[in-house]
Amino acid sequence: MTMAAPLDAFGLADPRPQKREQVTPNSATGPARVQAAYAALEAVMDPEIPVINLRELGVLRDVALQGDTLHITITPTYAGCPAMAQMREDIEAALHNQGLSPFAVRTVLSPAWTTDWMSASTHDKLRAYGIAPPAHLSTESANTAQPIRWHSKPQTTPACPQCASPLTTLIAQSGSTACKALYRCVQCSEPFDYFKPY
Ligand SMILES: [Zn+2]
Repeated sequence: MTMAAPLDAFGLADPRPQKREQVTPNSATGPARVQAAYAALEAVMDPEIPVINLRELGVLRDVALQGDTLHITITPTYAGCPAMAQMREDIEAALHNQGLSPFAVRTVLSPAWTTDWMSASTHDKLRAYGIAPPAHLSTESANTAQPIRWHSKPQTTPACPQCASPLTTLIAQSGSTACKALYRCVQCSEPFDYFKPY
């Protein structure tokens, strides 16, 4: 989530770094404080996919209270994902703006993030945004049940998010970002990003 710089009297963007506003501290304590943090973080979106938030992406792993300090645990999507620094900044800004200081954001690498952490409703949001969600789980396991529809056909090509046609072809392994591939729909000939299982 990026915010446009405020405009001055001449309609020009102020190039100076923005000072953080003074905010009223949130007086909630205990579980209510944790809930307030979760609520504030609902508004922190994936910088690359502004329709899904960090919880839906699976990056936000935990919010816990130790003493007065909120401890936010995040797991990066990919090592070296260029969006991670932005995500951390956005988390800090959201908590600060809701008066939820003090807080600490820590990064946990294990277990490693996987696209499997995105729910079916997140897949729907991706599709509505024009991105085909992962077509199968990254962690296929023979002895687990198959509770999710798209698990039953591993290694298929993604369906077109525009017209739902299963006839799609790979154009490039890397689309708009490294975590997405570029496909084209044979039916409606629209190109689209595919969120690769990872
Ligand atoms: Zn199509």
